[in-house]
Amino acid sequence: MLLQVKGLKKIYQQGDQKVKALDGINLDVKQGQFVSIMGPSGSGKSTLLHLVGGLDRGTSGTIEIDGKNINKFNDKDLSIFRRQRLGFIFQFFNLLPTMTALENVALPLLLDGKSLSEVEGQASNLLKDLGLGKRAGHTPDQLSGGEMQRVAIARALVTNPLLILADEPTGNLDSKTGGGVLDILSQMSKEKKQTILMVTHSPEAAKSGDRLITMKDGLIQSDV
Ligand code: ADP
Ligand code: MG
Repeated sequence: MLLQVKGLKKIYQQGDQKVKALDGINLDVKQGQFVSIMGPSGSGKSTLLHLVGGLDRGTSGTIEIDGKNINKFNDKDLSIFRRQRLGFIFQFFNLLPTMTALENVALPLLLDGKSLSEVEGQASNLLKDLGLGKRAGHTPDQLSGGEMQRVAIARALVTNPLLILADEPTGNLDSKTGGGVLDILSQMSKEKKQTILMVTHSPEAAKSGDRLITMKDGLIQSDV
């Protein structure tokens, strides 16, 4: 099993109020599976993605990725694991505005101490694969929304991650452009056995996955 979540709970403390965001999530995901996660606003979708992505820690329960219990990592090891082994795709792309598409894609490797000349070929091949060969030297303000999201996908893929976590990756794109992004994700899962967890509001987008989980009140309500 690539991902094993057991009894995961998250309680946020807000002033003197406790907010139960996750109330005991159990979830197993096999390598290569493309899982869509839906559910009403506030049901805990983003919290689940954040905890699986090591961006925050649960209150109780365990998360194993590729057999490693990420709860046991200290903060430094967790951030290295995140950078080297996980890929993130966000609704608002989160590209660095002063960097070119190529530099944005190479960034996770540059942060790992590699030089641009070492990784340029790899980043530029990925951009070509995603139809952005001619955009490598452009900065984000010179790209369309769909192009920016494809750059973000290339950046998420550049480390050859165990798992891709996508929170509303098409939420800021029109349906045609969003469809193109979803096609890329399903192709990655089918052809490269890339495991993907995607949160979406769109039933149409959710159909791109091969498994649909719905959440409600911090729990998994259905899983088909
Ligand atoms: P979703 O992504 O499904 O809309 P979230 O995971 O963002 O839901 O939120 C789940 C619950 O946790 C909500 O009630 C939300 O208000 C609360 N919550 C999320 N993040 C925080 C936080 N940093 N501090 C306090 N409460 C939070
Ligand atoms: Mg959310």
